[in-house]
Amino acid sequence: MDVHGGGNLRRVAVVGGGIAGSLVAKSLQFFAHITLIDPKEYLEIPYGSLRSMVEPCFAERMLINHSHYFSNGRLITSPAVGVTESQVLVADGRNVDFDFVVVATGHHDPSLPITRTHRLHQYTAENERIRRAESILIIGGGPTGIELAGEITTEFPDKAITLVHDGPRVLEFMGPKASEKALRWLISKRVNVKLEQTIDVNDMWDGNKSFRSSKGEIIIADCHFVCTGKAVASSWLQKSILKKSLDTNGRLMVDAYLRVKGQHNIFAIGDITDIRESKQGESAKRQAKVAAKNLKMLMVGKEGKMERYVARTPTTAMVSLGRKQAVAQFSITTISGILPAFIKSRDLFVGNTRKKLGLHPTLLD
Ligand SMILES: Cc1cc2nc3c(=O)[nH]c(=O)nc-3n(C[C@H](O)[C@H](O)[C@H](O)COP(=O)(O)OP(=O)(O)OC[C@H]3O[C@@H](n4cnc5c(N)ncnc54)[C@H](O)[C@@H]3O)c2cc1C
Repeated sequence: MDVHGGGNLRRVAVVGGGIAGSLVAKSLQFFAHITLIDPKEYLEIPYGSLRSMVEPCFAERMLINHSHYFSNGRLITSPAVGVTESQVLVADGRNVDFDFVVVATGHHDPSLPITRTHRLHQYTAENERIRRAESILIIGGGPTGIELAGEITTEFPDKAITLVHDGPRVLEFMGPKASEKALRWLISKRVNVKLEQTIDVNDMWDGNKSFRSSKGEIIIADCHFVCTGKAVASSWLQKSILKKSLDTNGRLMVDAYLRVKGQHNIFAIGDITDIRESKQGESAKRQAKVAAKNLKMLMVGKEGKMERYVARTPTTAMVSLGRKQAVAQFSITTISGILPAFIKSRDLFVGNTRKKLGLHPTLLD
């Protein structure tokens, strides 16, 4: 079959325009008839989001309209709500016929606006909220909470920051050394870290300034940010043919070729998969590359040439602490300071991700 010829193009539905889905759509746009389905008109590079809260112009490069890297295909700006044997069902009713599907719906925050312009305004508003506050409460000591504390204390060293975490150490997804280094850095910046305490996030409202922790402590803060982990966006699959392919954590089980187990023509990539690997954008990018290649092989009838995806364990993990510091865990050592910051904190991999999408790393189109 001539996959390049207009008439014989196979139909691929890519569900989710995040780190993984955007790369697949970009890579396959001249090999197949691609429909990219995403609730937003833009890709948001999640690693840049916390810097954008303290420096709103940073968001300009990390919010990328899908049309900037995906020029040859159809974009549907509406969430997928199900999959049948032959169609992806979309909330706006424009159901998509397919030959192949790639599920890449890692995470989704339903409160995100549809347009890039509105999202830019949101960052400006968040920035205003931080600027106006004298005291700030951050709930969650995972990578998001720690990076947010790092960004705020670097940009606004006079703010009184309290960080509440339910576990015995911050950054529990990394080893104890990384936790210790991050904690020491936060304390050196006068961040008040409270471990093994929780705040009831269901009992909060805008304008709330007094918070009671599970240990009965009262924390006064002008504004607060909830940085607890988000569930993967797989609830839309609960009533689909893929329901039985979800594991108990709501992740899609995949085979060595990144196909959903038991499915011939449905792939899954990125955070939504059950691959035993730290859930990171770098893994999502590598999976997107393998899935795009395997789809091409299937389209030309060379199933035997498909590539196996090899998970990298242990994965390198890096958490930035503002613009000039970071903590990094490699397989043989854990370090902190300006060296890992040089790799991550200056640009937060935004330029690198833009380059992978064929865009200039620094200049806007
Ligand atoms: C603060 C922070 C810092 C991070 N730092 C790093 C880092 O330094 N290095 C690193 O490698 N990784 C980092 N990560 C992790 C990285 O961002 C994720 O692993 C990566 O984004 C996963 O990519 P994905 O494409 O699977 O999912 P996502 O990027 O979450 O994209 C999912 C997409 O699917 C869409 N979607 C959801 N539901 C539906 C639906 N029903 N229909 C259609 N579309 C849907 C969403 O709108 C979104 O566009 C960080 C994450 C955060 C939050």
